[in-house]
Amino acid sequence: MISCHPTQEMLEKFANGELPATLAAAVSIHAEMCSECKAQIAAYTEQQAESGFNGVSSHASSANVNDEDVFAGIDIDDLIAAITATDEIDIALEDKEKTITVKGKEYVLPRALTNMTMSNWSSIGKLARSRVELGEGEIRASLLQIQPGGSVPEHTHKGFELTLLLDGSFEDDMGVYGPGDFIVLDGKHTHNPVSHEGCLCYTVSNDAQHFTQGINKLLNPFGSFIY
Ligand SMILES: [Zn+2]
Repeated sequence: MISCHPTQEMLEKFANGELPATLAAAVSIHAEMCSECKAQIAAYTEQQAESGFNGVSSHASSANVNDEDVFAGIDIDDLIAAITATDEIDIALEDKEKTITVKGKEYVLPRALTNMTMSNWSSIGKLARSRVELGEGEIRASLLQIQPGGSVPEHTHKGFELTLLLDGSFEDDMGVYGPGDFIVLDGKHTHNPVSHEGCLCYTVSNDAQHFTQGINKLLNPFGSFIY
């Protein structure tokens, strides 16, 4: 049972092709796992097509000039296909599904990630991370594995942190999360995720996590590791 979903605003922006590729990938993966949000995206897409026929551009009113505008109006599948034209992922093909093996545990990759370029895995303690290369500067996407019994030291966020749980579970003082949960945190939150059974997450962050808890300040390398 998925308890955390993207906001309606995010789903609408996704349907309109207005999200940065890192977040679009997250919404796309969530929609693979959540029929509710998938249906909502389809409704927004239909709405967008209708407003297109009326000559109304949903993003013409955007006053902000930023990187996101580069993606405005572009079909997200085309976008992802274009971004991932140079595919160097070290993965195996099995029954048309792409799998990755991290620290001896095999995972089926969500379709939205199968053509992405990923860095080699790096590892610290019970955490392993591979960057998903989407070329969006300070907005960084990664696959993060927490091995059974592992945790991320307590931290807040200077920017935002999106965690999309792909496999397994983790918990923090706000709840217990399972596959498909789409969790967005910002600077107001402090948390200390712990995974008893281990998990794999897709994460997007726009700033290094800021570690707060006494001794954990010494662990600030974790911040840049995760970011
Ligand atoms: Zn959903």
